[in-house]
Amino acid sequence: MESALSLSVSDWKKVLEGWDERTFYAQVLFSWLHGKRAVSFDEMTNVPKKLREKLALAYGIDQAAILTVQKSADGTQKYLLGLSDGKAIECVLMKYRFGYSLCISSQAGCRMGCRFCASTLKGLDRNLTRAEMLLQVYTVEQEAKVKVSHIVVMGCGEPFDNYEEVMGFLRLVHDEKGKGLSYRNLTVSTCGLIDKIRDFADQDLPVTLAISLHAPNDEVRLKIMRIARAVSMDELLEACRYYIEKTNRRITFEYLLIDHVNDSPQQAAELTDRLKDLLCHVNLIPVNAVPECGFLRPSEERIRQFMKVLEDNHIPVSRRREMGREIDAACGQLRFRKS
Ligand code: SF4
Repeated sequence: MESALSLSVSDWKKVLEGWDERTFYAQVLFSWLHGKRAVSFDEMTNVPKKLREKLALAYGIDQAAILTVQKSADGTQKYLLGLSDGKAIECVLMKYRFGYSLCISSQAGCRMGCRFCASTLKGLDRNLTRAEMLLQVYTVEQEAKVKVSHIVVMGCGEPFDNYEEVMGFLRLVHDEKGKGLSYRNLTVSTCGLIDKIRDFADQDLPVTLAISLHAPNDEVRLKIMRIARAVSMDELLEACRYYIEKTNRRITFEYLLIDHVNDSPQQAAELTDRLKDLLCHVNLIPVNAVPECGFLRPSEERIRQFMKVLEDNHIPVSRRREMGREIDAACGQLRFRKS
């Protein structure tokens, strides 16, 4: 049965037109589903009963089961949610000064094969629908009794490997009759699917683009990211340049620091050289040790030195605030351990 949460207002208009019903109800249905978060058509008392019955026969309203919640002392909460077909997915709620940010998954599993990542250890199960991405937001908001103000599509999965559904999700979560989040409060990451980076640039949505770079050159990138076999650093940075020129927006480069793999001052200098003419920001993330992958976290001294090289060369850089270190906070760890 098709998911009612997947439809935009204009999709509903088409459905209602096809049924010879008043298109006025398109907005009403969307508001019930995404504004009031109705879980059944029966609740929609300002929709004629006959129409509600027709809707209930054609559409389901998805629900997610909360399988596990891990809470850390800093307020970070990691959720394992169960979908209607039994697949489990993760999302992480983080509390910042500016509000609550939710990191959501775009796929169950991932086929990108990054060596530091637990999400990919069992490959890709399937893509998530736009409704299942929304469900992560709605379920967590209800359970935690908070309003999420920022969403990052950076959990399990490669968002641009599920491009159409992720784009659909961004539009639905932005709709003011529903959650109504500003595009500026949304971030999408990619490990480097360059055709999609160009396509995304052409959409010209003011959504933040984050690139999982993690290396200063092809040699190191090849050791840790399978995508590097298909896309060189030159090609990736060329696509980034296109994005920046087209949108005039700053790209965030995510850089996981892995002990004695990509964290030396020389590698920081090389990274500086590659990025110095790009409108960008580098986000350093000391790796959460993933025992399954055998990577270690660098010492504080090595992290500090790496950061200093970038700062001295005027590359905007920050270190991601580490949250929930005592829980399975790295992408895919909770799902992996429960499967
Ligand atoms: S880091 Fe992202 S793209 Fe790479 S394997 Fe993990 S989920 Fe997939």
